[in-house]
Amino acid sequence: MKCIACDQEQTHVIDSRVVESGQSIRRRRECLVCGHRFTTYETADVRMPRVVKSNGARQSFNEDKLRSGMMRALEKRPVPTKKIDEAIEGIKKNLQASGEKEIPARRIGELVMQSLRRLDQVAYLRFASVYLAFDNLEAFRAAIEGLNAESAGRE
Ligand SMILES: [Zn+2]
Repeated sequence: MKCIACDQEQTHVIDSRVVESGQSIRRRRECLVCGHRFTTYETADVRMPRVVKSNGARQSFNEDKLRSGMMRALEKRPVPTKKIDEAIEGIKKNLQASGEKEIPARRIGELVMQSLRRLDQVAYLRFASVYLAFDNLEAFRAAIEGLNAESAGRE
């Protein structure tokens, strides 16, 4: 953080406290060069990053689209809706925590695959077969063997 008086980078925090609402942190800073003291406020950025598709097109993050993609894979599977909601929340938190303004669409696909893999292996394979566009039986078999190796490793 630059000093607002002398523009030097060497400032340190002398006091931090959560502001009453709990939504932001107030910091008292001191410049190590000129001794000037000033206050900054830090607020969580809860906006979702924008999504960059492989062709470079930017679009807003769309939770409905994320959900419908997962629901399609989970069709008729014995997974409680609550678990799906938690998985979607987890993906959103992960994207927000990245702090990035833009994220590649691929990153969302990977997070969905990770979540489905934990929720239901059939749904995972359904999603992966579309997402990774398995174009032959070998690629599909490799994915299944990956799952088998994983569950064998857990025993
Ligand atoms: Zn200064």
